[in-house]
Amino acid sequence: MERLRRTDVPSAGRRVRTGPGGVLRAVLRHGPLARSTLARVVGQSPASITGQSAELIEAGLLREAPELAAPKAVGRPHMPVDIDTGRFVAGALHIGVPYSTVALLDLRGRVLTEDRRDHRSTDPADLVADAADRLRKLLAAEDRVPLGVGVATGGWVDQDDGRIIEHPLIGWRGVPIGDLLAGEIGLPVWVDGHSRALTSAEELFGQGLDASSVVQLFIGNVVDAAFAVDGVVHYGPRSAAGGVAHLPVAGSGEPCFCGRTGCFQVTVSEATLVRRALAAGVVGRPHFPDLVRAAMDGSPFAVELFHERSIRVGRAVATLLDLLNPDRLILADAAVVHVPGCLEHVHRQVREHSFACAHPESTVIATSFREHTLSVAAGTVMLHRLYTDPLGVSRGGSR
Ligand SMILES: [Zn+2]
Repeated sequence: MERLRRTDVPSAGRRVRTGPGGVLRAVLRHGPLARSTLARVVGQSPASITGQSAELIEAGLLREAPELAAPKAVGRPHMPVDIDTGRFVAGALHIGVPYSTVALLDLRGRVLTEDRRDHRSTDPADLVADAADRLRKLLAAEDRVPLGVGVATGGWVDQDDGRIIEHPLIGWRGVPIGDLLAGEIGLPVWVDGHSRALTSAEELFGQGLDASSVVQLFIGNVVDAAFAVDGVVHYGPRSAAGGVAHLPVAGSGEPCFCGRTGCFQVTVSEATLVRRALAAGVVGRPHFPDLVRAAMDGSPFAVELFHERSIRVGRAVATLLDLLNPDRLILADAAVVHVPGCLEHVHRQVREHSFACAHPESTVIATSFREHTLSVAAGTVMLHRLYTDPLGVSRGGSR
């Protein structure tokens, strides 16, 4: 029987964003823009746009760009406004399994500076004190003012109270990471899961802008997912949505900490691949970037490891596409970004195994953020709040 596939019907309209957040997002996406054009883009009256632009300029989030005005453009409605990237920065902390990354981003989500180090301790208070110290050093070398810090990590995160509910690979349970860091650094702190943050990052700063539904799949040591419709990320009861770590993988005998074997996360995780590469003498130390480098340099064993992993990732992607039928599925996976052939393996598996996806190449794409994925994820936890409630956040708003 021939499979029925989704036809390319136009997707439903996106949620219209209004107010200062909508104005700021429109300028981010389409700017610099004359206020008269901005009024049309946002669908509000020119008078309302002029008032909101004035508030955003006053808050230091927008600036007038006379250097970009057309020669005959006279008067306020025609003076372009752009995101003001000169006044504020966002702090970022990503907590990975072997290391943490601190960074500063500008208001366009560009990583200005970044510092990644192996954990000296995974005790939450020690790790946060070390991260705060490193962030303070980055801020001391920066003229712009920090609006706050975004924290992202894998595992199960409750954004409402800034708490990591469970991160088994680091051994954390119920860690109030937001309060700990805010206490150390004296700035507002927001916390979320890295896949959810990357979903927002693609909408704000990446290429996923014209998709009304997006799945983000993160493949690292943690393997997790997020799902957003019309720019709204789904959290579900207890913020538990997106757990794909323990999906069963056919043919895998890797033992998982959950007590079963062949779970998706442990089968494709960076630690598992590095262990196999170390045993084969392809890398000299348990350091995942060395394995990526070996594959980029053409080591047949390393390339084969990544291609084999991509086939397994592709099967899981096919399942997610059938379950959620998104316009885009975005892969945050170092191999897909750096190792030739990996994305093609994923596409082939989708073509062979998905019932819903008619166009694997345009549906399943690599992350926009490449080597800065972790910093962008963390910074976006803060910047997403800014683009939702710009005036509240810039006035030292609430979590
Ligand atoms: Zn498991």
